[in-house]
This record gives sequence, C-alpha cells and structure tokens, in this order.
Amino acid sequence: MSAYDADAAAAADRGDMLIYNANLFTGRRYAEAVLIRNGVVACAGDNDTVLREAGDDDSLLRIDAHGSLVLPGMVDAHMHLLETGVEMMMGQLRGFCSISDMVDGLRKRCVDMPFLISGGWDEENFAEHRLPDRHDLDKISTDRPVMLFRFCHHVVSVNSFVIEKCGLEHVPDAPGGIIRRDESGAPTGVLLDRAIEHLTELRTELVSSIAGDAVGKTIEYALSRGLTTLMSLDSDSLEFNTCRDLFSRNDLNCRLRLFLSARDFAVFGEYRDVRNQNDMFRVCGVKLFADGSFGGRTALLSAPYEDAQTTGLRLTDEKDFIRYMTIARERGMMVAAHAIGDRAIEEVLAAAEKAGLDGNKLRIEHAALTPPHVIRKIAMMHPTLVVQPHFLVGDWWLPVRLGDRCSDCYLFRTFTDLGLKPVGSSDSPVEPLDPWTGILSAVDRGKHAGVRIADLTANQALDSETALLMYTAWAGAASGEEGRLGMLEPGSYGDAVVMAERSIEAAMRKPAVLMTAVAGRIRFKSPAF
Ligand SMILES: [Zn+2]
Repeated sequence: MSAYDADAAAAADRGDMLIYNANLFTGRRYAEAVLIRNGVVACAGDNDTVLREAGDDDSLLRIDAHGSLVLPGMVDAHMHLLETGVEMMMGQLRGFCSISDMVDGLRKRCVDMPFLISGGWDEENFAEHRLPDRHDLDKISTDRPVMLFRFCHHVVSVNSFVIEKCGLEHVPDAPGGIIRRDESGAPTGVLLDRAIEHLTELRTELVSSIAGDAVGKTIEYALSRGLTTLMSLDSDSLEFNTCRDLFSRNDLNCRLRLFLSARDFAVFGEYRDVRNQNDMFRVCGVKLFADGSFGGRTALLSAPYEDAQTTGLRLTDEKDFIRYMTIARERGMMVAAHAIGDRAIEEVLAAAEKAGLDGNKLRIEHAALTPPHVIRKIAMMHPTLVVQPHFLVGDWWLPVRLGDRCSDCYLFRTFTDLGLKPVGSSDSPVEPLDPWTGILSAVDRGKHAGVRIADLTANQALDSETALLMYTAWAGAASGEEGRLGMLEPGSYGDAVVMAERSIEAAMRKPAVLMTAVAGRIRFKSPAF
C-alpha cells in the first residue's frame, strides 16, 4: 500500500488525511472515502464526492485503501491503563497451569526486579485447584514485595514481606472485604475485594517508578490493535497525573477518558483545572463498586451460588452510593457503577433513582446477570451498559458457579432487541486488550474457545456489524460523546483504522491492523502498510 510521502508531513501535522478506495463503515452506513481536516471528519461518501471535496491539495496525506475495510477508531470503554501496562512490563501469569510452575517461573523472573506485581492466574486452571497463599509466594521471594492478582483482580495473593509491610496481621475485617486467615488467626496472604485496599499505598509507591512507561506501553499496544480511545476505570491520582503529564508534554497518542476512584473523585476539586475537558484527555466521572466477581464468589446475587453457601459481597452501601451519585449529578459528571450480580444491579438502579441521576449519566459496568425482572428495571432507566464479551471465554467455569442462571448472563441480544446499545470493552488486564477478541466472542458466544456457555446462550449471539457497533458508534454514550466518538461522520473525531481484510466478518476471524490514525495523524503503521 502506498501512502506516506515526504510532502505529506506538514498535512499530517495538521491532521489532514484522505482515505479512499475503501470498504468504509462510518458507524452508520457504508462509504468509499473519508476526508479528515484538522483532526475532524469533514465528509464521508463515495470516492467521487470526497475526492472532489479534497480538491488538488498537494499537501494532503492521501491513503489508497485498495478495497480494505476502514473503520472508525475503536473504543475500549472499560479497561485499566496502569494495571495493563504493569502486567505487560512484569509478565502476565495467564499461561501457568499449576501453582508450582508459577512459583518456579516467577522465582527466576523476580531476581532482577525490585518488586513483582502482576496478575492473570485462575485457580480453576491450576492442577492444585486452590488459591496460592503466602507460603507459595514466599518461595518466589521473602526480601521484596510480591503481589499476584487473580485474573479478575478481585482476589490477590501476597507474600509475607507484603503482609508485614502493610501490617495485615493487625487489620480487622471490614465490610465488603475479606482477609483470609488460618486456624491461628494469621493472614494466609489471600485478600478479597475491599481488603485489597490495604495494599494501595505500597502498590502506588512501587508502581510510581514505572508508571510513565507502563501507560506508554499500553497505549502503543492498543493502537496496534485498532483502538484509538481508552476509557480507564477506577483511576487513582498516580494514573491521573501520569496521563496528564503525557498530555501536557504533547505525547498523548490516543484519546483517554478517566473515571476516578471514589477516593480520588471526592477530592476532585484539586484536579479541577483539567475540567477544561479537551478532546484528547478528559475526566468523565467516578467509578463505584456494588459488588465483586463471579470468580471470587463475591458478585452479589439474590440467591446463593450453586457451589457455595454465599450470596456474595456488598461493596458499597446505599447511603454512599447516593452520596457519590449526588456529587456526580451536581458536577454534571457520570457514574460508572460496577455491578455483576442481579442484586447488585438492582441496588445500583434503586440508588440512582433516589439520587435523581439520569440514565444517560449512569453506566453499569459488566451488567452480567440480568434475569427478566432486572431487565425490566434496566429498560425503564436506560443506563449505558458497558459489557465485556470476552468474559464468556474467561469465565468458562460459570455453569458451576451459577447453574441454570447462566442462561440469564451476558444477554447482549436481549439488550439490543430492547433498543439498549451495549458498549464493548475488555476490562484489560482481566481480558486481552483487543477489541477483535470481544467482537468474535459477542458473535460466537465463545464457541471458538469451546466454552459450555456458548451453547447455553446461543440465542444471544449478535451479528458481526452489531458487535462492531459496541466498540465504535455506541461507545460514545459511555463518555457522553455520542455522535463524535466512534464514528466517521462529518463532525466526528478523525480517528480511523485500516484493516488488511476487506470485510468485518474476515477481520473478526483473523484481524490484521495496517494503520491506525488519531485526529487525522498516523499513530500506528504495520510493516505491511
Ligand atoms: Zn474493571
């Protein structure tokens, strides 16, 4: 593919770009060409019309797509910037099939590292079928901090060094969290949900030394997968400051949207100067937690789990929900509420109603278990549902946890039939930072990975174009930028992806990104481009 000659450098700086001879999906219709001026879409349509509009401007960066699929820059509406980057730098734990393999592998990896923080393990994949504890992690190191998160990030195992450093021996249990203890009452090194907050201070101190690199790596990788906007959830001041530094240095190559942790949102006044809310970087609202995860059996259910006598954990009580929702409403900002279990979703909707929060200011993160009575309440309030299709694959053991209730999980088709526009995301590092794995899972319900839930919920499959809308045009609602974000229509942000394939169907099966542009500027090029 020809494109990038020296004459175009100045135009590229301005964000002027023409893409033609494309099989182009604008997020609303199909076209052949798009013209981007000053980083914003000027027009999209057939080749003749758009080429005429472009005129004979020699300095315009002209890209002949040779019939390739061209899409709006894709959006990951729920991920974790810093955690993703830290796991990229320190090495993911996803591949380990036993605790002993993980310990052996990490002992070597840990030698040249001042600390080890990573995630990705799942005890369901371990030969030992149990959670790793302090005794396991002490075999990795006893003289530096080791924190290993379960892939869901609602459970963590730490070594004795961390237990001592964070004073976990002496912390009492608090609502919404569990510090697992042995018969003598000593912490086993396993922490669940709110109890993980005891690690925050130490973790922030350690991660601050690599935060800039971690965010930079995450963005670079995201661009190579066709993502041009990342919405990071539960951002703390370290993540906020790292992103703002990138933006102030003019080094920000993709759009970032942050939802602050409750703690940081409460003191948001200190960050008010960035509420100028520019197009590249903005703080959109607050992230709240109603419950935990299915994996940790901490998602809040209306009836007990199938494989344990618990209904999960409530992470935020109604009083606090209403307080934060009221602050958000008064500031004109959004609330992103993590709610996986049916009871958790109902509680979020009830609190939003009491706080007078509009449906378009409320995002429900995950919205996993939605039996008919919950669906009815969702349809009345019309919040934005931010879902993760690849959970179908990651949560392959779900039938054991939930039994028949699996058929009420991840109901993307029911949502779209009701006129709701679910928004796609990865929750990276929980699932891979790659919109194409999510699109494929929304279409085949995880059949490509051979999961049982694929057959149990086959009626919920989406067609590939609808699945793509979740990562493009529909994603704008997740940050209050409908029509501008995730589309290639006049007035939208000039973010575009050129794929090697010619159709959505082919791209979904074997995606190869040739070029990613943000605001009309090339931010990723594959060697094949
Ligand atoms: Zn998340």
